[in-house]
Amino acid sequence: MADGILVFAELKDGKLAPVAKQSLTAAGKLAQAKGLEVTAVCIGKNIEAAAGDSIKCGAAAAYYCDAAELEHFVDESYAKIVAEIAAKTQPRLIIGGASFVGKELFPRLAAMLNSGLAADVIAIDWEGEEIVATRPAYGGKAILKVSPNGPGPRLVTIRAKAFPEATPAETGDGKIEKIAYDSVRHGARAKVIEKIRESGQSVSLTDADIIVSGGRGLRDPANFKLIRELAEVLGGAVGASRATVDAGWIPYAHQVGQTGKTVNPKLYVACGISGAIQHLVGMQSAKIIVAINRDPEAPIFKVATYGIVGDLFEILPKLIARLKKA
Ligand code: FAD
Repeated sequence: MADGILVFAELKDGKLAPVAKQSLTAAGKLAQAKGLEVTAVCIGKNIEAAAGDSIKCGAAAAYYCDAAELEHFVDESYAKIVAEIAAKTQPRLIIGGASFVGKELFPRLAAMLNSGLAADVIAIDWEGEEIVATRPAYGGKAILKVSPNGPGPRLVTIRAKAFPEATPAETGDGKIEKIAYDSVRHGARAKVIEKIRESGQSVSLTDADIIVSGGRGLRDPANFKLIRELAEVLGGAVGASRATVDAGWIPYAHQVGQTGKTVNPKLYVACGISGAIQHLVGMQSAKIIVAINRDPEAPIFKVATYGIVGDLFEILPKLIARLKKA
Protein backbone atom coordinates (compact mmCIF):
# COMPACT_ATOMS: atom_id res chain seq x y z
CA MET A 1 0.00 0.00 0.00
CA ALA A 2 2.49 2.68 -0.97
CA ASP A 3 0.94 6.15 -0.94
CA GLY A 4 -2.02 5.27 1.27
CA ILE A 5 -3.17 6.45 4.68
CA LEU A 6 -1.99 4.76 7.84
CA VAL A 7 -4.19 4.89 10.92
CA PHE A 8 -2.78 4.29 14.37
CA ALA A 9 -5.83 2.47 15.74
CA GLU A 10 -5.56 3.14 19.46
CA LEU A 11 -6.89 0.37 21.67
CA LYS A 12 -8.60 0.43 25.03
CA ASP A 13 -8.72 -2.84 26.94
CA GLY A 14 -7.70 -4.65 23.75
CA LYS A 15 -10.57 -3.19 21.68
CA LEU A 16 -10.68 -0.27 19.25
CA ALA A 17 -10.96 2.93 21.26
CA PRO A 18 -13.65 5.40 20.13
CA VAL A 19 -10.91 7.71 18.83
CA ALA A 20 -9.59 4.85 16.65
CA LYS A 21 -13.00 4.53 15.00
CA GLN A 22 -13.10 8.32 14.58
CA SER A 23 -9.60 8.23 13.02
CA LEU A 24 -10.80 5.53 10.60
CA THR A 25 -13.71 7.78 9.56
CA ALA A 26 -11.38 10.74 8.98
CA ALA A 27 -8.93 8.55 7.03
CA GLY A 28 -11.71 6.90 5.02
CA LYS A 29 -13.06 10.23 3.79
CA LEU A 30 -9.61 11.48 2.75
CA ALA A 31 -8.73 8.15 1.12
CA GLN A 32 -11.94 8.08 -0.88
CA ALA A 33 -11.31 11.53 -2.33
CA LYS A 34 -7.95 10.41 -3.76
CA GLY A 35 -8.59 6.74 -4.45
CA LEU A 36 -6.17 5.71 -1.67
CA GLU A 37 -6.29 2.79 0.71
CA VAL A 38 -6.42 2.91 4.48
CA THR A 39 -4.20 0.61 6.53
CA ALA A 40 -4.63 0.27 10.29
CA VAL A 41 -1.96 -0.45 12.89
CA CYS A 42 -2.98 -2.08 16.19
CA ILE A 43 -0.49 -2.57 19.01
CA GLY A 44 -1.11 -4.36 22.31
CA LYS A 45 -1.70 -7.76 23.83
CA ASN A 46 -4.31 -10.26 22.56
CA ILE A 47 -5.44 -7.89 19.87
CA GLU A 48 -5.94 -9.94 16.71
CA ALA A 49 -9.70 -9.33 16.95
CA ALA A 50 -9.12 -5.58 17.14
CA ALA A 51 -7.12 -5.74 13.89
CA GLY A 52 -10.14 -7.52 12.34
CA ASP A 53 -12.44 -4.82 13.71
CA SER A 54 -10.40 -2.10 12.04
CA ILE A 55 -11.03 -3.87 8.72
CA LYS A 56 -14.75 -3.95 9.56
CA CYS A 57 -14.48 -0.20 10.18
CA GLY A 58 -13.21 0.45 6.68
CA ALA A 59 -9.45 -0.29 6.60
CA ALA A 60 -8.33 -2.25 3.54
CA ALA A 61 -5.48 -3.84 5.50
CA ALA A 62 -4.32 -4.08 9.09
CA TYR A 63 -0.99 -4.79 10.76
CA TYR A 64 -0.90 -5.81 14.37
CA CYS A 65 1.90 -6.34 16.83
CA ASP A 66 0.81 -8.52 19.70
CA ALA A 67 3.02 -9.11 22.73
CA ALA A 68 2.86 -9.10 26.53
CA GLU A 69 5.45 -6.28 26.47
CA LEU A 70 2.98 -4.13 24.54
CA GLU A 71 -0.02 -4.55 26.83
CA HIS A 72 0.47 -1.01 28.17
CA PHE A 73 1.37 1.97 26.03
CA VAL A 74 5.10 2.69 25.97
CA ASP A 75 5.84 5.54 23.58
CA GLU A 76 9.27 4.34 22.50
CA SER A 77 8.17 0.81 21.53
CA TYR A 78 4.92 1.90 19.93
CA ALA A 79 6.69 4.60 17.88
CA LYS A 80 9.31 2.11 16.67
CA ILE A 81 6.59 -0.28 15.51
CA VAL A 82 4.51 2.39 13.75
CA ALA A 83 7.67 3.78 12.12
CA GLU A 84 8.60 0.30 10.91
CA ILE A 85 5.15 -0.18 9.36
CA ALA A 86 5.36 3.30 7.84
CA ALA A 87 8.72 2.38 6.27
CA LYS A 88 7.09 -0.73 4.82
CA THR A 89 3.90 0.91 3.55
CA GLN A 90 5.22 4.40 2.66
CA PRO A 91 1.98 6.20 3.56
CA ARG A 92 1.25 9.76 2.50
CA LEU A 93 -0.42 10.45 5.82
CA ILE A 94 -0.58 8.94 9.32
CA ILE A 95 -3.64 9.67 11.47
CA GLY A 96 -4.36 8.95 15.14
CA GLY A 97 -6.19 10.42 18.09
CA ALA A 98 -5.09 13.50 20.06
CA SER A 99 -5.52 11.40 23.19
CA PHE A 100 -2.97 11.04 26.01
CA VAL A 101 -1.46 8.21 23.93
CA GLY A 102 -1.49 10.17 20.65
CA LYS A 103 -0.02 13.24 22.32
CA GLU A 104 3.02 11.20 23.36
CA LEU A 105 3.29 9.00 20.30
CA PHE A 106 2.94 11.42 17.39
CA PRO A 107 5.62 14.01 18.29
CA ARG A 108 8.08 11.13 18.73
CA LEU A 109 7.01 9.69 15.38
CA ALA A 110 7.35 13.11 13.76
CA ALA A 111 10.97 13.27 14.93
CA MET A 112 11.71 9.70 13.84
CA LEU A 113 10.11 10.08 10.40
CA ASN A 114 11.26 13.66 9.79
CA SER A 115 7.62 14.63 9.37
CA GLY A 116 5.41 17.63 10.06
CA LEU A 117 2.60 17.13 12.58
CA ALA A 118 -0.77 18.88 12.76
CA ALA A 119 -2.03 18.15 16.28
CA ASP A 120 -5.52 18.15 17.79
CA VAL A 121 -7.30 18.91 14.54
CA ILE A 122 -11.07 19.25 14.12
CA ALA A 123 -11.21 19.01 10.31
CA ILE A 124 -8.91 17.82 7.51
CA ASP A 125 -9.13 18.10 3.77
CA TRP A 126 -6.97 17.97 0.67
CA GLU A 127 -5.64 21.06 -1.00
CA GLY A 128 -4.21 19.69 -4.21
CA GLU A 129 -1.89 16.88 -3.14
CA GLU A 130 -1.30 18.30 0.35
CA ILE A 131 -3.57 18.12 3.36
CA VAL A 132 -4.86 21.13 5.22
CA ALA A 133 -5.90 20.58 8.81
CA THR A 134 -8.03 22.91 10.92
CA ARG A 135 -7.15 23.33 14.57
CA PRO A 136 -8.14 25.67 17.37
CA ALA A 137 -5.38 27.85 18.84
CA TYR A 138 -5.03 30.39 21.66
CA GLY A 139 -7.63 28.58 23.75
CA GLY A 140 -10.10 28.37 20.87
CA LYS A 141 -9.95 32.13 20.17
CA ALA A 142 -8.44 31.50 16.74
CA ILE A 143 -8.85 28.74 14.21
CA LEU A 144 -5.71 27.86 12.27
CA LYS A 145 -5.33 26.11 8.95
CA VAL A 146 -2.16 24.02 9.11
CA SER A 147 -0.44 22.17 6.32
CA PRO A 148 2.28 19.96 7.78
CA ASN A 149 5.23 19.24 5.54
CA GLY A 150 8.68 17.70 5.57
CA PRO A 151 10.29 14.79 3.78
CA GLY A 152 8.34 12.14 5.74
CA PRO A 153 4.63 11.32 5.73
CA ARG A 154 2.28 14.01 7.05
CA LEU A 155 1.12 13.33 10.60
CA VAL A 156 -2.24 14.34 12.05
CA THR A 157 -3.89 13.78 15.42
CA ILE A 158 -7.63 14.38 15.63
CA ARG A 159 -9.53 15.79 18.58
CA ALA A 160 -11.86 13.26 20.26
CA LYS A 161 -15.38 13.41 18.83
CA ALA A 162 -14.47 15.86 16.07
CA PHE A 163 -15.28 13.07 13.58
CA PRO A 164 -18.07 10.48 13.84
CA GLU A 165 -17.13 6.92 14.75
CA ALA A 166 -16.94 4.41 11.90
CA THR A 167 -19.67 1.80 12.34
CA PRO A 168 -18.25 -1.72 12.07
CA ALA A 169 -19.76 -3.83 9.27
CA GLU A 170 -20.86 -7.42 10.01
CA THR A 171 -17.86 -8.73 8.13
CA GLY A 172 -14.76 -7.17 6.67
CA ASP A 173 -12.60 -8.02 3.73
CA GLY A 174 -8.96 -7.07 4.05
CA LYS A 175 -5.45 -8.35 4.61
CA ILE A 176 -4.35 -8.79 8.22
CA GLU A 177 -0.64 -9.23 8.92
CA LYS A 178 1.05 -9.89 12.22
CA ILE A 179 4.34 -8.12 12.95
CA ALA A 180 6.44 -10.21 15.33
CA TYR A 181 7.56 -8.28 18.39
CA ASP A 182 11.33 -8.13 18.58
CA SER A 183 12.82 -6.79 21.80
CA VAL A 184 15.96 -5.61 19.97
CA ARG A 185 14.10 -3.67 17.27
CA HIS A 186 11.05 -2.66 19.29
CA GLY A 187 12.24 -2.59 22.90
CA ALA A 188 12.07 0.51 25.11
CA ARG A 189 14.25 1.92 27.86
CA ALA A 190 11.22 2.26 30.15
CA LYS A 191 8.49 -0.19 31.01
CA VAL A 192 5.13 0.11 32.73
CA ILE A 193 5.24 -1.87 35.95
CA GLU A 194 1.68 -1.35 37.07
CA LYS A 195 -1.43 0.39 35.82
CA ILE A 196 -3.86 1.60 38.46
CA ARG A 197 -7.37 2.12 37.26
CA GLU A 198 -9.23 5.12 38.61
CA SER A 199 -12.31 3.88 40.45
CA GLY A 200 -15.76 5.37 40.46
CA GLN A 201 -15.96 6.75 36.92
CA SER A 202 -17.87 4.37 34.69
CA VAL A 203 -17.88 6.74 31.69
CA SER A 204 -14.57 8.00 30.26
CA LEU A 205 -14.45 11.80 30.30
CA THR A 206 -13.10 12.20 26.76
CA ASP A 207 -15.67 9.79 25.31
CA ALA A 208 -18.66 11.08 27.30
CA ASP A 209 -21.56 12.76 25.50
CA ILE A 210 -22.64 14.44 28.72
CA ILE A 211 -20.34 15.91 31.38
CA VAL A 212 -21.31 17.59 34.64
CA SER A 213 -18.38 19.49 36.15
CA GLY A 214 -17.91 21.02 39.55
CA GLY A 215 -15.75 23.95 40.62
CA ARG A 216 -14.63 25.75 43.75
CA GLY A 217 -18.18 27.08 44.12
CA LEU A 218 -18.99 23.67 45.63
CA ARG A 219 -17.11 24.88 48.74
CA ASP A 220 -16.47 21.39 50.15
CA PRO A 221 -15.40 18.05 48.62
CA ALA A 222 -18.49 16.33 50.06
CA ASN A 223 -20.64 18.55 47.86
CA PHE A 224 -19.31 16.79 44.77
CA LYS A 225 -22.11 14.34 45.52
CA LEU A 226 -24.48 16.84 43.86
CA ILE A 227 -22.33 16.74 40.71
CA ARG A 228 -22.18 12.93 40.80
CA GLU A 229 -25.94 12.70 41.26
CA LEU A 230 -26.69 15.02 38.36
CA ALA A 231 -24.18 13.17 36.17
CA GLU A 232 -25.83 9.89 37.10
CA VAL A 233 -29.38 10.98 36.24
CA LEU A 234 -28.14 12.37 32.94
CA GLY A 235 -26.03 9.27 32.22
CA GLY A 236 -22.88 11.35 31.99
CA ALA A 237 -19.38 11.65 33.45
CA VAL A 238 -18.04 13.87 36.24
CA GLY A 239 -15.59 16.64 35.40
CA ALA A 240 -13.86 19.19 37.58
CA SER A 241 -11.92 22.44 37.54
CA ARG A 242 -8.27 22.47 38.49
CA ALA A 243 -9.01 24.42 41.66
CA THR A 244 -10.93 21.43 43.02
CA VAL A 245 -8.31 18.94 41.86
CA ASP A 246 -5.49 20.99 43.41
CA ALA A 247 -7.47 21.16 46.64
CA GLY A 248 -7.63 17.35 46.67
CA TRP A 249 -11.44 17.26 46.39
CA ILE A 250 -11.41 14.96 43.36
CA PRO A 251 -8.69 13.01 41.48
CA TYR A 252 -6.77 14.58 38.59
CA ALA A 253 -8.37 12.17 36.09
CA HIS A 254 -11.49 14.38 36.25
CA GLN A 255 -9.76 17.66 35.49
CA VAL A 256 -10.92 19.48 32.37
CA GLY A 257 -8.77 22.16 30.79
CA GLN A 258 -5.36 23.15 29.58
CA THR A 259 -3.50 20.89 31.99
CA GLY A 260 -6.32 18.34 32.19
CA LYS A 261 -8.48 16.74 29.51
CA THR A 262 -9.88 18.30 26.37
CA VAL A 263 -13.50 17.21 26.10
CA ASN A 264 -16.02 17.60 23.31
CA PRO A 265 -19.38 16.41 24.66
CA LYS A 266 -22.88 17.17 23.41
CA LEU A 267 -23.74 18.71 26.79
CA TYR A 268 -21.40 20.28 29.38
CA VAL A 269 -22.87 21.50 32.66
CA ALA A 270 -20.48 23.76 34.60
CA CYS A 271 -21.48 24.22 38.23
CA GLY A 272 -19.67 26.79 40.38
CA ILE A 273 -16.89 27.17 37.80
CA SER A 274 -15.75 30.72 37.02
CA GLY A 275 -14.64 29.97 33.44
CA ALA A 276 -10.93 30.81 33.56
CA ILE A 277 -9.34 30.59 30.11
CA GLN A 278 -7.40 27.47 31.16
CA HIS A 279 -10.70 25.72 31.90
CA LEU A 280 -12.46 27.02 28.78
CA VAL A 281 -9.81 25.64 26.39
CA GLY A 282 -10.71 22.15 27.53
CA MET A 283 -14.48 22.36 27.09
CA GLN A 284 -15.67 25.24 24.96
CA SER A 285 -16.15 23.10 21.86
CA ALA A 286 -19.01 21.29 23.66
CA LYS A 287 -22.21 21.54 21.59
CA ILE A 288 -24.34 22.87 24.47
CA ILE A 289 -22.88 24.50 27.58
CA VAL A 290 -25.03 25.11 30.62
CA ALA A 291 -23.43 27.28 33.32
CA ILE A 292 -24.68 27.62 36.87
CA ASN A 293 -22.96 30.42 38.77
CA ARG A 294 -24.12 33.01 41.26
CA ASP A 295 -21.93 35.72 39.75
CA PRO A 296 -23.61 37.17 36.63
CA GLU A 297 -20.21 38.50 35.50
CA ALA A 298 -18.51 35.08 35.62
CA PRO A 299 -16.59 34.51 32.33
CA ILE A 300 -18.21 31.08 31.93
CA PHE A 301 -21.38 32.87 30.80
CA LYS A 302 -19.52 34.20 27.73
CA VAL A 303 -19.31 30.66 26.32
CA ALA A 304 -22.56 29.29 27.79
CA THR A 305 -25.50 28.36 25.60
CA TYR A 306 -27.74 28.59 28.67
CA GLY A 307 -26.74 30.48 31.79
CA ILE A 308 -28.39 30.13 35.18
CA VAL A 309 -27.45 32.90 37.61
CA GLY A 310 -28.04 31.56 41.08
CA ASP A 311 -26.90 29.43 43.98
CA LEU A 312 -25.96 25.94 42.88
CA PHE A 313 -27.03 24.57 46.28
CA GLU A 314 -30.59 25.68 45.47
CA ILE A 315 -30.57 24.89 41.76
CA LEU A 316 -28.88 21.47 41.63
CA PRO A 317 -31.19 19.63 44.06
CA LYS A 318 -34.24 20.97 42.17
CA LEU A 319 -32.75 20.05 38.81
CA ILE A 320 -31.86 16.54 40.00
CA ALA A 321 -35.36 16.00 41.47
CA ARG A 322 -37.03 17.24 38.25
CA LEU A 323 -34.84 15.04 36.04
CA LYS A 324 -35.43 12.01 38.27
CA LYS A 325 -39.17 12.55 37.90
CA ALA A 326 -38.88 12.95 34.15
P1 FAD B 1 -12.94 29.84 40.99
O1 FAD B 1 -12.25 30.61 39.95
O2 FAD B 1 -12.67 30.15 42.41
O3 FAD B 1 -14.49 29.99 40.70
C1 FAD B 1 -15.51 29.53 41.53
C2 FAD B 1 -16.81 30.02 40.93
O4 FAD B 1 -17.88 29.49 41.68
C3 FAD B 1 -16.95 31.56 40.95
O5 FAD B 1 -17.26 32.02 39.64
C4 FAD B 1 -18.13 31.80 41.89
O6 FAD B 1 -18.94 32.89 41.49
C5 FAD B 1 -18.89 30.50 41.79
N1 FAD B 1 -19.67 30.20 42.99
C6 FAD B 1 -19.27 30.28 44.30
N2 FAD B 1 -20.27 29.85 45.11
C7 FAD B 1 -21.31 29.52 44.30
C8 FAD B 1 -22.60 29.01 44.54
N3 FAD B 1 -23.05 28.76 45.77
N4 FAD B 1 -23.42 28.79 43.48
C9 FAD B 1 -23.01 29.05 42.22
N5 FAD B 1 -21.79 29.52 41.91
C10 FAD B 1 -20.93 29.74 42.94
N6 FAD B 1 -8.07 25.32 35.54
C11 FAD B 1 -8.83 24.33 35.09
O7 FAD B 1 -10.02 24.21 35.40
N7 FAD B 1 -8.28 23.38 34.25
C12 FAD B 1 -6.99 23.41 33.86
O8 FAD B 1 -6.56 22.52 33.14
C13 FAD B 1 -6.19 24.48 34.32
N8 FAD B 1 -4.90 24.57 33.94
C14 FAD B 1 -4.17 25.66 34.35
C15 FAD B 1 -2.88 25.82 33.88
C16 FAD B 1 -2.12 26.91 34.27
C17 FAD B 1 -0.73 27.06 33.74
C18 FAD B 1 -2.68 27.84 35.15
C19 FAD B 1 -1.87 29.06 35.59
C20 FAD B 1 -3.95 27.70 35.64
C21 FAD B 1 -4.71 26.60 35.25
N9 FAD B 1 -6.00 26.42 35.71
C22 FAD B 1 -6.77 25.42 35.20
C23 FAD B 1 -6.55 27.24 36.83
C24 FAD B 1 -7.49 28.33 36.36
O9 FAD B 1 -6.74 29.49 36.05
C25 FAD B 1 -8.49 28.67 37.48
O10 FAD B 1 -7.79 29.02 38.65
C26 FAD B 1 -9.45 27.54 37.83
O11 FAD B 1 -10.05 27.04 36.65
C27 FAD B 1 -10.52 28.06 38.76
O12 FAD B 1 -11.35 27.02 39.16
P2 FAD B 1 -12.84 27.31 39.59
O13 FAD B 1 -13.57 27.98 38.47
O14 FAD B 1 -13.40 26.06 40.14
O15 FAD B 1 -12.67 28.30 40.83
